[in-house]
Amino acid sequence: MKHQKLTIKQKRILKNILVVVLLIISFPSYTPTQVIIKSDHILISNHLLSRPIECSSFDGLTYAGLDGKKYSHNSYVGVQPLTISNTITFSTSKTLYSAPFSYYATSNTVPAGSYHVTKEAGRYMYIEGKGWVSSQYVSIDVNNSIENTTGIPLYKDYMIPETSSHRTHYAMRPLYITIHTTDNTSKVADALSHAKLQYTGNVRSASWHYTVDDHSIYQSLPLNQQAGHAGDGVMPGNSASIAIEICVNSDGHLYIAEKNAAKLAAALLKQYNLSVDQLRMHHDWSGKECPRPMIEGQSGSMNWETFKKQVYNYMRTV
Ligand SMILES: [Zn+2]
Repeated sequence: MKHQKLTIKQKRILKNILVVVLLIISFPSYTPTQVIIKSDHILISNHLLSRPIECSSFDGLTYAGLDGKKYSHNSYVGVQPLTISNTITFSTSKTLYSAPFSYYATSNTVPAGSYHVTKEAGRYMYIEGKGWVSSQYVSIDVNNSIENTTGIPLYKDYMIPETSSHRTHYAMRPLYITIHTTDNTSKVADALSHAKLQYTGNVRSASWHYTVDDHSIYQSLPLNQQAGHAGDGVMPGNSASIAIEICVNSDGHLYIAEKNAAKLAAALLKQYNLSVDQLRMHHDWSGKECPRPMIEGQSGSMNWETFKKQVYNYMRTV
């Protein structure tokens, strides 16, 4: 058979076909996250997985798979501990979801009112016998502040306004305390100035519950509302932990600020009936070098183990 040379036009068409085929191969079709919550364990998968993984628990860093393996939370969707018993209240009707993700919205709603919830997952709560609802603009009946048992003045003059975009308005039942440092060594970058920063509208999208320096504590958010500080999306760092920022201003006393934060953390852990093991570094949730002075062993700072020990000791005295 006689071979015919391709014309320039034919070559161009072939090239275009090749490009389209390559594009189709390199972008696999999107599969939504799948979550199945059974009575005693969690089944999760997303488009990164070819099969769902059944998990029995989550320790804040990894899921324990029923296959005996550990799975990092970075690639998976998180569901928090399944056993809670609380009442939630909302003032307008809510969409029901069949699983705690936006993809699973149903056409059913639940009217405004108070309901008993038994499970929570990121930004959703489970109304017994009905289904999941978004926890945004839902109030949950857990204490939203603490009695001041630390001996350090605690101010609430600069709570983030209700209308601020820095309020997530997602309900939270605190399960962890997360420790951060501000990374701001400027003079007068103390607790008051950080509270004012949050109050007037921080340019960064981050938000946190408390700022502590060497002489004061400022609260910026109620403790039954989620903040955005842990860099872990809807995982427990953001969705179930109270954030404490420790000031590192160069005209302040870092060690005393850390001591004050340890007292506050101890009071919070006690109030919510949590153990010292539920005290976390920002680093534990997302790998960020925070609280930097404790991780890097900066002079004038206590290391994490010492901090944890102090919290433990304060828990026995406050
Ligand atoms: Zn941090």
